[in-house]
Amino acid sequence: MSRARQPPGGPLDGYLGKPPELTFPQKWTLSGAWQRAQRADARFGPVDDAHFDVLLERERGGWGDKHRVLFAIQDGRLRAHCDCKSYQHRDWCAHVAHLWWRWSRDQLGVTDLDAEETHLSPPWWLTVDDAEVARA
Ligand SMILES: [Zn+2]
Repeated sequence: MSRARQPPGGPLDGYLGKPPELTFPQKWTLSGAWQRAQRADARFGPVDDAHFDVLLERERGGWGDKHRVLFAIQDGRLRAHCDCKSYQHRDWCAHVAHLWWRWSRDQLGVTDLDAEETHLSPPWWLTVDDAEVARA
């Protein structure tokens, strides 16, 4: 299947320089964001090749705010970003965590923007610091 090649930048045009790489914070598997990412009811869907809208259930019920999350591969690295406050402060949040959780369980298609391929689980060559724990 071939698609028209996107102009340089494409869906990542809004970012200054390279979009941020996903890094897992220390002890992230114990983080509240990760716990919530696995427990909360979620609605999410792709916006374009690189972004998803993610809506998570709040701890006390009801839906949280919808957030736009960058989650895509570029230059062989997983690029991630979220517009929520938690991400601005910690470079980590339940929305990004939720997408990782889905992806590592074959429940999400993530686009490699260079190869124009969709990966239904993290490819073997993708290295994300400390991610191995989460693949099991
Ligand atoms: Zn977020």
